[in-house]
Amino acid sequence: MNQGPQLNHSPQVNQNPQLSDGIAPDAILRVSHVTKFYRGVPAVRDVSFTLRRGRSLAVIGESGSGKTTLTSIAMGLLRPDCGDVEYYGDARDSADTAHSRDTVHSGETADSAGMSIINNHAALLRLRRESGIVHQDPFASLDPRWSALRSIAEPLRARGVPRDEAERQAAQTLQSVGLDPRVYGVRLPVDLSGGQAQRVAIARALVVRPRLLLADEPMSAIDVTARLQILDVLGGLRGKVAMLVVLHDLGVAQRLADDVIVMHHGDVVERGTVDQVLTHPRDSYTRRLIAAATL
Ligand code: ADP
Ligand code: MG
Repeated sequence: MNQGPQLNHSPQVNQNPQLSDGIAPDAILRVSHVTKFYRGVPAVRDVSFTLRRGRSLAVIGESGSGKTTLTSIAMGLLRPDCGDVEYYGDARDSADTAHSRDTVHSGETADSAGMSIINNHAALLRLRRESGIVHQDPFASLDPRWSALRSIAEPLRARGVPRDEAERQAAQTLQSVGLDPRVYGVRLPVDLSGGQAQRVAIARALVVRPRLLLADEPMSAIDVTARLQILDVLGGLRGKVAMLVVLHDLGVAQRLADDVIVMHHGDVVERGTVDQVLTHPRDSYTRRLIAAATL
């Protein structure tokens, strides 16, 4: 963390429990002192944050600032050189688990104590099973041989949901992201535009009704009209789903996130609630980002 002396101007921000390095009682994911180098050059440097249940955290920063590297580490797709990522588990109440109960192994106790997804493969698998993940490049994450409907139904099938029911829920979810399942359900990735593929990837992440959503620029390729619909869908999850979401724009962050961290050259240069950062940016880079967003 870059904490210059001027940080003390705003004790509210420094004491923001959502973003502190300490263990929050309702933490779902905790990233601690994560550093990643590529050929000796740091892409992410000593980044820590705690994501709490039902809170939404946006990661903002220009291209190359380390957002994908950081979120890939948080998703367990990339190993950091230093630091740890702990998953505390999905503590959804039992009434909510009907469609995924068969995936919960008895005896797992990650809900109360964080388990490292870096050193513990069971914890990594559990994070994957219980979260929805949207990668920056939707084509790289969709199986080229599978129709949109099959891609979206697959996470449900993997959880033991019968095919008909999985496809019914998949069609419903595809509709919710603005794609008519009768038209797009049968399409292969090659027959989708970038924005459509991104929406299929979002639907696939949401179909299992995760309590944790990890998304890297989920709206970057989506055109303006569809973007409003996706904003509604993701905005509707606020308060119910913990979200770690890379966004381009502080305006969108205001719609989707409670908290924000601003990255610049691999460092976190600013953190706080979105409103605090928008109204009282302390870092000159954040001030430039805000000015650019209003152009
Ligand atoms: P962002 O998502 O903010 O655009 P990235 O995390 O993709 O940033 O990249 C951060 C830095 O790390 C950039 O300088 C990028 O060029 C570099 N980088 C990312 N991935 C690799 C890689 N596989 N090999 C070498 N350098 C990489
Ligand atoms: Mg990126």
